[in-house]
Amino acid sequence: MARIGVFGGTFNPPHRGHLQAAEEVARVLELDRVLFIPDREPPHKQVPDGTPDGRTRLELVQAAIGELPFAEADDMELRREGKSYTADTLRLLRDRFPDDTLYLITGTDMFLSLHQWYHPEEICRYAVIVGLRRTEGDRDGAFQAQKNRLEKQFGARVELVENRVLEISSSRVRRLLILGGAEKYVPEPVLSIIRTRGLYNTDQDYRNLPEEELRRVAVGLLKESRVNHVLGCADTARKLARLYGADETAAYRAGLLHDVTKAIDGEDQLLLVDKYDILISDFERSHPKLLHAKTGAYVAKYVFGESEEIQKAIFWHTTGKADMSLMEKIIYLADYMEPTRDFPGVEKLRELAWTDLDRAMLLAFTMCIEELVRENKNVCKDSREARDFIARELGEPVEEIPQQEE
Ligand code: FE
Ligand code: FE
Repeated sequence: MARIGVFGGTFNPPHRGHLQAAEEVARVLELDRVLFIPDREPPHKQVPDGTPDGRTRLELVQAAIGELPFAEADDMELRREGKSYTADTLRLLRDRFPDDTLYLITGTDMFLSLHQWYHPEEICRYAVIVGLRRTEGDRDGAFQAQKNRLEKQFGARVELVENRVLEISSSRVRRLLILGGAEKYVPEPVLSIIRTRGLYNTDQDYRNLPEEELRRVAVGLLKESRVNHVLGCADTARKLARLYGADETAAYRAGLLHDVTKAIDGEDQLLLVDKYDILISDFERSHPKLLHAKTGAYVAKYVFGESEEIQKAIFWHTTGKADMSLMEKIIYLADYMEPTRDFPGVEKLRELAWTDLDRAMLLAFTMCIEELVRENKNVCKDSREARDFIARELGEPVEEIPQQEE
């Protein structure tokens, strides 16, 4: 009697997180084999644009599991019409392996919503449910509660396995395929198929896109919650450019791209830093949130082919610096005051921005620094110099900020 892991999913694309999860479950539960079963049409979610068809994803899975001795790719869901329901898949596997025990491997979201799936009672009848729980544990007890529920309601057998491995999602991988740095998460044989066939839009030329197209692509790279901010920033930048005589088109494009790498989490920012050979300070290395300005500037250059004026405006949009160009000031301010921003003093800042750009800059730097000091956070050297420079130019006093280590 064998113990067989069943690992379904869209695998869009498959990545090391999948492989490590399978390895971990196989090790802890002593599985003899794990079947990777790409779905034809996921029943619970809309697939993103540019998702390769099932056969192609199966090929990617085959390439991914190449070196895992216990893993096999299975095309059973691709041979069925319509949506791929787990209950149907498990029933077929039950018939195929009548003497063996099936272990359905589920990630966090899947596990916690399993009772709402199509025929959960059948799923629980055919397989042991394996809930992979995140490393940080089960703080709110949701996993344990779900385990109890499934056992009580459906007579399920449930195993919880700590997922000590890579926290990585396919959507993150798809972003990195465009922006750079996917190598860390995608095994080389998979990457090679993706690149040679231009899957996930990797063959698209993003340089000098027309404005509308640039807007679409930029929005697609953001997290949903960031979209309005970025569009607001781009519009505000265009208006400020018109008022102060800068290149309106460039300002709009810089606004669209200023946070283009913002959806990339801290650790992955460092992948981009390596990929584009960006020089960063220890301060930045320990505050990777700040890095999206620099990585964004390099992406604007190498992926989108934007001008130096735009690159620089993006580069300095978080910290500012001494002696900024008009475009740099515009993006810095537009980012700070665009219509969705809401903080004490933003109205005053907006008012000032439409009448006196430099005074608005001084106010923005001062507010930003005061906030950091209030929150006991480090103020980086560039921001201090930016404020002092503009204060001197305007003949305003330069206030001492307590020195901090860099
Ligand atoms: Fe930003
Ligand atoms: Fe921003």
